[in-house]
Amino acid sequence: MTSFICPLCQASFNRQDKTQVCENNHHFDIAKEGYLNLLPVQSKSSKNPGDNKEMMSARRAFLNTGGYLALAEKVAQTTQHYLTNVEQASVLDLGCGEGYYTALISQQVSSHHICGLDISKVAIRYAAKRYKNIDFCVASAYQIPLADESIDLITRIYAPSKAEELMRVIKKNGYLITVTPAPRHLYQLREVIYEQVEAHLQENEAINGFTKIEQINLNYELIIEQEQQLKDLINMTPFAWKFTQEKLALLLTQSNWKIECDFNIEVFQKN
Ligand SMILES: [Zn+2]
Repeated sequence: MTSFICPLCQASFNRQDKTQVCENNHHFDIAKEGYLNLLPVQSKSSKNPGDNKEMMSARRAFLNTGGYLALAEKVAQTTQHYLTNVEQASVLDLGCGEGYYTALISQQVSSHHICGLDISKVAIRYAAKRYKNIDFCVASAYQIPLADESIDLITRIYAPSKAEELMRVIKKNGYLITVTPAPRHLYQLREVIYEQVEAHLQENEAINGFTKIEQINLNYELIIEQEQQLKDLINMTPFAWKFTQEKLALLLTQSNWKIECDFNIEVFQKN
């Protein structure tokens, strides 16, 4: 079991039936799917923060076709590589969504303990239902409900985070693996939207308190034959709303699509 802590006072929990209670008597319910909702009501900016259901369904359908499997496998292998000499490591998948990558990482590093965190309750509910061997919680990445220096490795795929929090929860010499889009990512989709495609600027991030120890570029061509798979891919991107009916129709005149996937995987070690 992951030792989540109270997000309000940082005390540890004692389980009482279907509730986790801290020594200051803050209560958090364990959902019937087994996840813990640790998002204090006052820190929600909307009723259901995080990705909405439509975006999640599109992402889920697309991921199920294996379109990003190469990425998931690369992240899982990289995770395993850096944990080779660690026994029973604690791994956190930050911004895990509905747990697609979390599950693949968990398979690869089955001797270690992995948990997933996301601010979206619909996504976490789905994850907890599907992947029973992983601990999931609804929480903010800006206020991670885990004790100081309790995590050996964090994976952060496309998710926002706060350097101070990463610094706080990762053990000394522990790792952070991040995935961000590289310049050619989904170029052929962006080409339809923009008159002139600007290559994404590579986000070579420097994270306070960490040293970058590896950078991997993962680039491959995705062949899409089903119209629905293409639509799902579009609907899970942040630029979905820029596709007018006209532009979508133009794209759909083709019968199969070759789309570049380009990811920047970076590994950081805590100083
Ligand atoms: Zn508390």
